[in-house]
Amino acid sequence: MAREPADVPLGIIHTMSGTLDTLLAEDRLFPPSLEFRSQANVSNPAIYAEAHRNPVEFWESCAKSLEWSRGWHTALEWNLPDAKWFVGGTLNACHNCVDRHVSAGHGDKVAFVSEGEPGDVRVFTYRQVLETVCKIANALKEAGVQKGDRVCVYMPMIAELPMVMLACARIGAAHSVVFGGFSSESLHERINDAGAKVLVTADGGWRRGGVVELKRIADEALAKGCPTISRCLVYERIGSPLADGVPNYNPGTWIEGRDLAWSEFVDRQPVDCPCEDMDSEDLLFILYTSGSTGKPKGIMHTTGGYMTQVSATTQWVFDFKPDDVYWCTADCGWVTGHSYIVYGPMSLGAKQVLYEGTPDTPDKDRFWKVIERHKVTILYTAPTAIRTFMKWGPEFPGRCDLTSLRLLGSVGEPINPEAWIWYSETIGGSRCPVVDTWWQTETGAIMISPLPGVTATKPGSATQPLPGIHAAVFDENGKDVTPCHGALSYMVGSESLDQGPEVGGILAIKHPWPSMLRGIWGDPERFRQVYWSRFDGAYFPGDGTKVDEDGYFWLLGRIDDVMLVSGHNISTMEVESALVDHHAVAEAAVIGKAHEIKGQGIAAFVILRAEFAANSWPEGKGDSHDLVSELKSHVAQKIGAIARPDDIFICAELPKTRSGKIMRRLLRDVAEGRALGDTTTLADPSVVANLKDKYESSEG
Ligand code: ATP
Ligand code: MG
Repeated sequence: MAREPADVPLGIIHTMSGTLDTLLAEDRLFPPSLEFRSQANVSNPAIYAEAHRNPVEFWESCAKSLEWSRGWHTALEWNLPDAKWFVGGTLNACHNCVDRHVSAGHGDKVAFVSEGEPGDVRVFTYRQVLETVCKIANALKEAGVQKGDRVCVYMPMIAELPMVMLACARIGAAHSVVFGGFSSESLHERINDAGAKVLVTADGGWRRGGVVELKRIADEALAKGCPTISRCLVYERIGSPLADGVPNYNPGTWIEGRDLAWSEFVDRQPVDCPCEDMDSEDLLFILYTSGSTGKPKGIMHTTGGYMTQVSATTQWVFDFKPDDVYWCTADCGWVTGHSYIVYGPMSLGAKQVLYEGTPDTPDKDRFWKVIERHKVTILYTAPTAIRTFMKWGPEFPGRCDLTSLRLLGSVGEPINPEAWIWYSETIGGSRCPVVDTWWQTETGAIMISPLPGVTATKPGSATQPLPGIHAAVFDENGKDVTPCHGALSYMVGSESLDQGPEVGGILAIKHPWPSMLRGIWGDPERFRQVYWSRFDGAYFPGDGTKVDEDGYFWLLGRIDDVMLVSGHNISTMEVESALVDHHAVAEAAVIGKAHEIKGQGIAAFVILRAEFAANSWPEGKGDSHDLVSELKSHVAQKIGAIARPDDIFICAELPKTRSGKIMRRLLRDVAEGRALGDTTTLADPSVVANLKDKYESSEG
């Protein structure tokens, strides 16, 4: 397998020299309100000390909230890099997410409110989910799937997608969900890497008023050669009556003997199907990372430890209550959809909203309409979405009643302080705690986040490691430089620990955690190399962080995005946040660009808020604009002259992955006049191609 430079941890030494300079100061503090604290699931900070005393025992007590068919004999076996949690225990993830709620008398509780982009709304109770999941599970078995097999899932974001995932878990097959926005090439690659036996797809999905022709794309992928696939199960989402209105809709080519129509094959199945007893360490799923830095990795997660941590963190971080209406806007194609749509919330019997389409269809108020219509209480979304809403302006949320909301979450990228404040005020009415959650596909569950009834939040900081998580900051030599070593004074219930000054460096996780990845599918060597060779004995997530004098973590983005300007390591995130702090700016992407004197200079790509873009600052470098020199001074004033951008380029769009993350390595290619690197995980490759043209013509 080809190895991308970003996969080789030692490559990082090129960019980092010495510790990371920390520049941006943010001193706004938001303690939990008395009202929130008094009803919170976790309101006593003693939980940190308890977890710290014995993390393994602590996680054992969390694991007991699941239903196990057999108890474990050993809580943790740790032979770096291989962890086994709850060894000897058996359980079934689907049973824990569905059956046990029905058995407990909650069969009539709504599990999913599934809103299609065209406006169709379908409601499924837990009993209906159980019946449908059993039918799907029986269908998969009839199609030849057995315990231990892999099933590839390529579907739109409708209720059948999580139900297919649960059906796989029920019969002990691992799912590999591929985001419905990926091309046939990416699907083909992922099917073959995982060796999937069956592909589950749909005839299409609705997106921005049109149809994504999933079955046609799946046909293309299979035609490239997928020797392990024997059957393709097709859910009729578009169906002929609806599709009649869609010009040029291509439903693909039906291949008898391979393709199975859901309406015939699933609907006729019996509504009961036993849950397989799974070992705690049996594979639950494979999921490929988003590919921001290089070739996606097939991350493996197993059953007992993963379920324990996703369930506990949903309870703590989202302060989840039985009458909440929860909406996570992620797609099940990403880890957020696995952990915080399917396995975490459903293990707690949540009622949740699923939405199929884009936030601007039919208009830019769609998200807020969804919240108003279904009275959503908890919203979990991504900074990329929040910055897009800022760019569109406050009139769209202003049209809707958002008073049902009581908690807001963010995940996927660092959230700039101004975006945090906008989210808190404009969406949360200054009433809702904001939880900025740091984690990765690899960590499986949230690792660093506020506990909303305990933690005073600081905009832009994911605050502190959760109870039972030992996060630290290391310098480039792998030395632990965390101020007040290991844990915060209040976490261990002591005031006597020394508190050091703020430090910047590389994030590390020092102790195994239950939902940690168990490997990269098919590549144990790459697993060891990428995550376990950088530090001695600790996990290397690849992100930079600073830890302030209060012990708060500020995630600074990927280490390989760090700039080295005149001998100072500067994080792109801090310069971006200083730009977004200016009232004209909605979004910014910053990169280091080769510079004769400074080593690297700072180049910024900036998107203006709608009202400023309308004042017509044209796209381009625009050195003569007053606004551009104002932005440069703003950064210099906010965080120091060293971080003053050399170039500012005003643009309409930024290159993003299909999960919405800015792809800085491509912007480096643009700024340094190189051919563009791998663009296959981009949402829209034309964005970067256009940007490159405009950039080059403005360089003259
Ligand atoms: P790849 O590993 O293939 O390059 P990726 O890292 O984008 O892709 P994910 O696992 O989806 O794939 O993303 C995890 C990364 O997202 C983290 O390592 C971190 O860089 C970033 N991230 C996620 N949440 C936060 C957050 N709350 N604050 C800061 N960064 C975050
Ligand atoms: Mg990653």
